[in-house]
Amino acid sequence: MTQKKITRLPKDPGPAAWNSIIEPDLGFASVSTDIEADWVIVGGGWSGLAAARRLSQLLPSDESIVLLEAKRLGEGPAGRNSGFMIDLPHDLNSDTYAGNNDHDLKQIKLNRQAIDFAESAAFEYGMPKAVFSRSGKITAAATEQGIQHLESYSKHLVEMGEAFKFKSAEEMLGITGSSFYIKGLQTEGGAMVQPAAFIRACANGLRQRVQFFENSPVIELNSGTPHVLKTPAGKVRARNIILAVNGHIQSFGFYPKRLLHVFTFASMTRKLSPSELQALGGQSDWGILPADPMGTTVRKISNYSGSGDRLIIRNLATLNQSLEAPETDMRRAKAMQDHSFKNRFPMLKGVDMEYRWGGRLCLSLNSMPAFGELEERIWSACCQNGLGTVKGTLSGIAAAELAVLGSSDLLTDFLEHQAPSKLPPEPFLSLGANMTMRWKQWQAGKEL
Ligand SMILES: Cc1cc2nc3c(=O)[nH]c(=O)nc-3n(C[C@H](O)[C@H](O)[C@H](O)COP(=O)(O)OP(=O)(O)OC[C@H]3O[C@@H](n4cnc5c(N)ncnc54)[C@H](O)[C@@H]3O)c2cc1C
Repeated sequence: MTQKKITRLPKDPGPAAWNSIIEPDLGFASVSTDIEADWVIVGGGWSGLAAARRLSQLLPSDESIVLLEAKRLGEGPAGRNSGFMIDLPHDLNSDTYAGNNDHDLKQIKLNRQAIDFAESAAFEYGMPKAVFSRSGKITAAATEQGIQHLESYSKHLVEMGEAFKFKSAEEMLGITGSSFYIKGLQTEGGAMVQPAAFIRACANGLRQRVQFFENSPVIELNSGTPHVLKTPAGKVRARNIILAVNGHIQSFGFYPKRLLHVFTFASMTRKLSPSELQALGGQSDWGILPADPMGTTVRKISNYSGSGDRLIIRNLATLNQSLEAPETDMRRAKAMQDHSFKNRFPMLKGVDMEYRWGGRLCLSLNSMPAFGELEERIWSACCQNGLGTVKGTLSGIAAAELAVLGSSDLLTDFLEHQAPSKLPPEPFLSLGANMTMRWKQWQAGKEL
């Protein structure tokens, strides 16, 4: 039996806005006594929920499934994101893709399988459009440089046989109410979610089959037969474990010096009044991704179950290898986001941000996931490389299929990857990465 003390528990800066604006539900109890389970999933984000749902489809009904989440569901990064489920590669510079179409087509196919899986969950658990909608995606430019990014990307889409439409400045105004954007590019395959509502609805939909525990961080892992997971108030004995904790897989002692921990930040306005909505104009619900990858993501949501009409704005990325973001990053994000908001929505002068927050992503230098069987009957479904709503769903499905089936069509494509590569030593890594990101953010100019 090997013993691993968990070195760090998740700390997410600021409130979980998307979770705060929906009606609170009863939630789930925490582990308060010793229990046993055939399968334990650690982590209740995209990856953990997808693993839980796929296990529930694959296992006979007498095999028990438990999910342990350190915090409340929807309060971690899974419920803190901008809610874009993206099927196409994110980077808009088509030079990156030259000669690499096969790889991209495989990724797109896998991404769409993940979005279909999320859509079928949304349908099965009765989620309204405000929580999951197959909206497609619009990437928009505010500068000539941004337009060049869109045009370069469109060439790559043509090479891959993907349909798209350009949107004029007037059309962008009609969608967003803002004259900030001068060109857009729309594709059909993506989806938009209310991330915290989606996570909670999935858990509620699965509660008859999966036993969920919130506020139950795993603080020690003893691998053996059975494995024993220690939480502050009880132990869980498990035959099989799926670790779905994204970057915190490192806190379990796995993948040392191989994972990059990036934080990104967001702000959400207070509810807009009827007169402010009229001054804004545009459509009721929309989302815009920036033409420059270091630019600003913006969403407008309409009133869903009392949550209000609001704008959400995201930018800034910082590398924090300690897995915690300092207060200075939150202050930088606030200044940047107020500036970006003012540039886009001059008609909403005086509208304050009600929530400001940040959250963790996990990347690897070679963009590979931290995936596979780590020890006997312990699997990792971690390191989503940014696009975690889709990649997390995918790795959760794949971990469940690997653990139960051993092989599947999805695994044949998904397993075509190497391990995350080794990182350069500190302090060069953090200094270099943060300086590069600052430089790229500065280069993004008005796109920010
Ligand atoms: C502001 C922001 C905007 C973003 N926008 C997008 C976007 O538009 N589209 C997109 O695809 N991605 C986006 N992301 C990234 C996305 O949110 C993540 O990649 C995704 O949440 C990863 O999913 P996951 O399930 O792998 O990990 P997580 O969502 O991080 O879930 C892991 C869970 O494990 C739990 N955990 C950790 N340690 C323990 C422990 N010891 N015991 C028990 N539980 C533990 C954590 O509390 C957490 O809930 C964004 C992120 C942020 C912060």
